[in-house]
Amino acid sequence: MQILHHGAVNGVTGSCHQLIVDAHNSLLVDCGLFQGAETSGRGDDDLLSIEFGISTVQALLVTHCHIDHVGRLPYLLATGFNGPIIATEATAALLPMVIEDALKVGVTRNQSIIKACLARLKEQLITVPYQQWFEVTLKGASRTKVKFQPAGHILGSAYIEIDVKAHVKGSEQAAKRVVFSGDLGATYSPLLASPKSPYKADIVVIESTYGDKNHQGRRDRAKSLEKVLVKAISDNGVVIIPAFSIGRTQELLYELEQITAKAKFKKLADIEVIVDSPMAAKFTEHYQHFQTLWDAEAKRRVKQGRQPLNFDSLYTVDTHQEHMQVVEYLANRSKPAIVIAASGMCSGGRVVNYLKRFINEPTADVLFVGYQAQGTLGRQIQQYGPSGGYVFIDGEKLDVKAGVHTISGYSAHADQSNLVNFIKRIRKGPEKVIIVHGDQQAKESLKDKLLGLDKSMLVEIGKG
Ligand SMILES: [Zn+2]
Ligand SMILES: [Zn+2]
Repeated sequence: MQILHHGAVNGVTGSCHQLIVDAHNSLLVDCGLFQGAETSGRGDDDLLSIEFGISTVQALLVTHCHIDHVGRLPYLLATGFNGPIIATEATAALLPMVIEDALKVGVTRNQSIIKACLARLKEQLITVPYQQWFEVTLKGASRTKVKFQPAGHILGSAYIEIDVKAHVKGSEQAAKRVVFSGDLGATYSPLLASPKSPYKADIVVIESTYGDKNHQGRRDRAKSLEKVLVKAISDNGVVIIPAFSIGRTQELLYELEQITAKAKFKKLADIEVIVDSPMAAKFTEHYQHFQTLWDAEAKRRVKQGRQPLNFDSLYTVDTHQEHMQVVEYLANRSKPAIVIAASGMCSGGRVVNYLKRFINEPTADVLFVGYQAQGTLGRQIQQYGPSGGYVFIDGEKLDVKAGVHTISGYSAHADQSNLVNFIKRIRKGPEKVIIVHGDQQAKESLKDKLLGLDKSMLVEIGKG
C-alpha cells in the first residue's frame, strides 16, 4: 500500500491523493483545483490536466465540495474516468452547482458541454450516509471499504476512513485503516457540529492550513466582528467581506443574525446585510434544507422561531445588473452596510468591483474572515493595506485607505490545537501521520507539535 499526493503538497490547493491498494487498484481522494500563487510555474494545461495515470483508479471519494478539492473533476471525467464518485448526500447536492460554476469560470460557457459533463457526474455519483461502511468494488482479491464521518468544515464535509485488505501476489497483507482528514472544521464554529476523532487509524493524512496558529475564541471573535461593525456605523462606511460561497458565508450570516438580534443600538439592529452572490444564496438554501446537520445551538434558535440564515435585514443580489446597481447605491448612500461577496481571496468575482470602488475610501473597511493564499489580491491587501500601501486591481494602482481587518476564527478550518487534538483523541493511535494542505511553516509547526505527542509515531510532510 502506498499514498501518492497529486496536489496540496506545496500549499493548500489542488487537493488530490491516491491510495494505491495493489497493482490493479487505487482510490482517489478529492480532485481539486490549484489556485493563487500555487498555479505559478505550471502551464494552463498541466494545471488542469490529470498528469497521473488513472487506469487503476476504481473510485473517487469526495471529502467536500470546495473548488480546491473538486475543481479538477471535469478533467478527470475527460480523461476517461467512469468509476463511482462517492460523497455524502449534502455534498452530492452541492456538487453539480460547484462544478457548473467551475466550468463556466475556467473552461467554457458552452451549455451543451456543461450539460454533458453534469449528466456524467450525476450518473457516476453515489451518495453514502455518514457513519456507515460502504464497500468499494475492486478488481481481484483485494478488499476495501470506506466510511464518511462529519468533519464540521462545510455542509456535507467529511473525513474518510478507509479499510484496506490488500492481496499482493496471492497473499493477504495486514489490514490497514487509513484516514484522510479532508478539511477539518474548528471547534465551536457556528452552525455545524465539530468533528470527533476516529476510533482507530494506522495512517492519517491530515490537513494543516492553520497548523501554526490558534484561532481567537468564538466570543472574542464575535466581539471583534461587532467592533468592526460599530465603526462602520459611526462613519456610515461599507464593510466588505470577501467570502467563499460555501460555508463561511453561512457561518457569518449566522453570527450576524445573532449580533443584530441582540444589538442595543438601533443602527446596528437595522444594518443592511447584502449577500452579493447568486451561488452563495443557493448554498444558503441548501444549508437550510439540511438543518438536520446543524449543531444543537443552531437547532435551538430555529425552535425559538428565529431564522438564522434568512433574517429580515438580509438582502440577496442576483443579476449582474443588480450587482452594478448595488455598487452605485452604496457609493451614494448615507447609511452603513455590510456586503458579503465572493471570491474569498479576491482573485475574481463580484468582490473585486466593490474593492475597486471603495478600497481608497477611509470610511470603508475590508474584513477578511478566511485564509488568503500567497499571490492573491486578498493576501496583498492584508499585507500592504495596514501600512498605508497600495495594490493593483485590474491593472489600476489604488491606495488602500480602507481599514483592513482579519478575524481568523471564521476560517471554517481547525486551528493548531484542534488538529493536534484530532490526532491525540484517536483511541488506537496511528503509526504514521502525513501532513498535507498547508504552507511550509504551518506543516513544520504542526509536525513539531505532533512529535511531542508520541515519540514512536512517525510524522512526515507529504511530498508530491
Ligand atoms: Zn475546504
Ligand atoms: Zn481545502
